[in-house]
Amino acid sequence: MKTIKDMLLKKREDLVREIARRSKASTESGAQDIGDILDSVSEERTRELDMILTDREKRKLAQIDDAIERIEDNTYGLCEDCGVKIPKARLKVLPFAKYCIECQEKTEREEKYTREEPEEGIRKVPVGEVEE
Ligand SMILES: [Zn+2]
Repeated sequence: MKTIKDMLLKKREDLVREIARRSKASTESGAQDIGDILDSVSEERTRELDMILTDREKRKLAQIDDAIERIEDNTYGLCEDCGVKIPKARLKVLPFAKYCIECQEKTEREEKYTREEPEEGIRKVPVGEVEE
């Protein structure tokens, strides 16, 4: 049986391969193995990555790594806000979901509220830091 972690690792691999193919196409030598770059954490390599990856890819990679990390910490599938278990069905559709539906909706409502009430001169200060 395939676990979510397997699925995430596969997604990561696919993404890395896609990036590697593109970077090989754009750089003549292609000597650098993108897989090595992605596995490396040195600052120099991170800079290289910054040049190669698009924002979308960076975000996706970060999401995947984050989810894998949460699986290893045994916090995967738990809402980061209230701590309840996120339903499996939800995780199937949204494998990177960090919040249960209730908390997600609450966050979205708050965001909407903040957007729809742009009172001049008054800026809403979010309560606590909301990390994406
Ligand atoms: Zn929650």
